[in-house]
Amino acid sequence: MLRALGKDPRMLLSEIGVIAVVGAGQMGAGIAQVCAQRGYRVLLADAALERAKSAKLGVDQQLSRLRDKNKLSAADCEAASARIEATTAELAYPQADLVIEAATENRELKLALFEQADALSPPHAILASNTSSVSITLLAGQTKRADRVVGMHFMNPVPIMKLVELVHGLETSSETLATVRGLAEALQKTVIVSQDRPGFLVNRMLIPFLNEACFALDEGTGSAEDIDQGARLGLNHPLGPLELADLIGLDTVLAIASVLEQDFGDPKYRPSILLKNMVSAGYLGRKTKRGFYVYDEQGKKLRASP
Ligand code: NAD
Repeated sequence: MLRALGKDPRMLLSEIGVIAVVGAGQMGAGIAQVCAQRGYRVLLADAALERAKSAKLGVDQQLSRLRDKNKLSAADCEAASARIEATTAELAYPQADLVIEAATENRELKLALFEQADALSPPHAILASNTSSVSITLLAGQTKRADRVVGMHFMNPVPIMKLVELVHGLETSSETLATVRGLAEALQKTVIVSQDRPGFLVNRMLIPFLNEACFALDEGTGSAEDIDQGARLGLNHPLGPLELADLIGLDTVLAIASVLEQDFGDPKYRPSILLKNMVSAGYLGRKTKRGFYVYDEQGKKLRASP
């Protein structure tokens, strides 16, 4: 925490020292890793301390893998690991210059987290959300610092994907946007900016595509393998839509599709029943080892789901 409380609340990139990442799932872990590799101190929190600790172990494994492939020196690997501390959100907020919320894609949960983050974080801190679809203006409305609330939407997997989509809430200040743009660039990412509309830019395009693939599969138009092969070889996509849905997490895909449907009020965005049923059954994709495909313990794709 570099700025004394009560002073000019605007935040400069050079003043971000401590980043609290709240939500230590696949995205939170990736965000923690890239921030630590670029020299930031990271406080990594989840709903339970044990989950944060296990996410930190996962990040350490990723860093060691980079070291073993000679993509990271042993010293940098050790230093990055030492910059990440697994903790609780309550302990992390008061020390944070920037909070990046990366918890489960659930509107009510995020509203509660933003209220708590605002109450416990220093006045100068910026509160960012990695949400895929929840309105940044709505989250800002839970706080007394709407000018310092912003969307910072990283892509999955965070260490590999180059893009960060910044989301400009109705009241986000230009200083806040400039600070998080500077941070994203310091993380060696390329930035795009979206106004606060359902799904922003990336998921407004992506989710209807994934959802349509679910409809095609459900209607028996083609097999999962042929749908994905069609997108890979016919559209030159690196992953087919069903493989990508499994990577994102089917619960997250469904949550985003539901926000698009509700917030646009347009039935063209209605999620496919198959997608809903998969989530109800607990088949969430790679993270549960079964989605549209079945995966082994190492995450290798074995075959299409029966
Ligand atoms: P995930 O399911 O892997 O992780 C979510 C984490 O949030 C879990 O570890 C869960 O325990 C934690 N959590 C739940 N309640 C919490 C609380 N009260 N406090 C702290 N942590 C809590 O999900 P994910 O894929 O990492 O997605 C996280 C966020 O990132 C979502 O908003 C999602 O939309 C967004 N996102 C996801 C992707 C993707 O491809 N999966 C891409 C970009 C953005």
